[in-house]
Amino acid sequence: MRADPGSSQVLSPIEFYDTRRGRRVPFEPLEPGKVGIYSCGPTVYAEQHIGNLRSRLFSDLLKRFLLSEGYAVTHVINITDVGHLVSDADEGEDKMEAAARKAGRTAEEIAAHYTELWRRDGEAVNCLPPEHNPKATEHIPEQIELARKLEAAGYLYRIEDGIYFDTSRFPRYAELAGLDLEGQSEGARIGVTEGKRNPADFAVWKFAEEGVSRLQEWDSPWGRGFPGWHLECSAMSVRYLGPRFDIHTGGIDLATVHHTNEVAQSECGYGVHPWVNFWMHNEFLALSGGEGDEKMSKSKGNVKTLSDLIERGIDPLAFRYFCLQAHYRQQLAFSDEAIESAAKGFARLRRIAAELEQVEGEGDPAAQAPYADRFREALADDLNAPRAMAVVWEVARSDTLAPVDRRDLLRRFEPVLGLSLGEAPSEVSADAESDPRIDALLADRQAAREAKDWATADRIRDELAAEGIEIVDSPEGARWRRRKD
Ligand code: AMP
Ligand code: ZN
Repeated sequence: MRADPGSSQVLSPIEFYDTRRGRRVPFEPLEPGKVGIYSCGPTVYAEQHIGNLRSRLFSDLLKRFLLSEGYAVTHVINITDVGHLVSDADEGEDKMEAAARKAGRTAEEIAAHYTELWRRDGEAVNCLPPEHNPKATEHIPEQIELARKLEAAGYLYRIEDGIYFDTSRFPRYAELAGLDLEGQSEGARIGVTEGKRNPADFAVWKFAEEGVSRLQEWDSPWGRGFPGWHLECSAMSVRYLGPRFDIHTGGIDLATVHHTNEVAQSECGYGVHPWVNFWMHNEFLALSGGEGDEKMSKSKGNVKTLSDLIERGIDPLAFRYFCLQAHYRQQLAFSDEAIESAAKGFARLRRIAAELEQVEGEGDPAAQAPYADRFREALADDLNAPRAMAVVWEVARSDTLAPVDRRDLLRRFEPVLGLSLGEAPSEVSADAESDPRIDALLADRQAAREAKDWATADRIRDELAAEGIEIVDSPEGARWRRRKD
């Protein structure tokens, strides 16, 4: 319990659900006043979908809430720009390599392109930039260093295609995800690799295949090759946050293999336990369909991107608002109707907030305190965003609170919500420009779209994008603006 100067009461402690302990636990940082967060970031061989974006928005809400509590937060999000073999198996085609080959470009070009799209999407939904955004390819020495430590301590063994981690030597291997290793059959989880001692064993370093030319490979004490994809997160988190840190986030799909393997490498390599204090996992964004909800994933091909929403006139921040309507540990079903209804609700909220911004005068902190406390309580309760949003709406609609207090409360909530409340609702019209040549191209694109000539429409969009011009589709028609950077 602690007192807060802006509040009338003693505040209850923050509690987060920790996957490892399987329950909610009061949150205390390792070092007073500071919080380190590591979030598994994008694999940059394709455009991120809005399921990935939900994961990013969850870690952003977590960060914003901790900042509002006065913590100095160091947030690390990695960029996976190497390896990541098909599914979780340690075999199959490398996704980065495959994407580069298909596009006739280098792996670096592919990675730079999709990293930029990821950055732009994050910015469009008001995600705070991470303090560190390390790339796997720029941290190969750190990864080799960790593998050497594991080798020296006797955890690794060599088979034909690489160096593997012997999971039977780590008694806590099943702890994070509560795995049933006895009942696990090889193949069901990670595919069959000849020579592995245990089904769960995973590659720490893979050898370059003889006669197969790869775009991405490095020298190592074990020969030329590339790191296993779990290694980067173990090595880079520790590089930026120290050998133990507070919170690790990611989608729930990562708990059983990727995060379990990260724990094994880090606890054995750095000799720490628990390596991470809180494991926080977000549930999926699912696509509503006739047969029930299905996880949105690149491999299923049922993905939607933020650009798809923007093309349909949905404000990117309406997607942020949509995600705030569900608790991060609940599945959230995406459908056209659901996002459209969220967009309407969001537009209403923004209009109210913009109107309240016109109110002048000073508010009454005592009148505001009960609402501010309830908003904070909701988030301290394992980041209960829907409950916090209920308080936001109560304030927005209240006819008992003075307008000036409603204005102040929404201003106080905004840094946590990141919804640009109080700003002009349509950014598009705020900075739309006019230029006869570009306006004409936009009209051509509109005509092509009406004729369902998507190829021409896309070509015009790409040409303008190459000039640094972004088209923003809205219900009132398409507008354009020059990219600011
Ligand atoms: P990836 O780029 O596939 O490595 O994924 C980046 C992040 O998005 C990881 O934390 C995943 O667990 C998460 N993720 C992937 N699919 C979904 C989904 N449908 N809903 C929510 N999070 C997801
Ligand atoms: Zn990771």
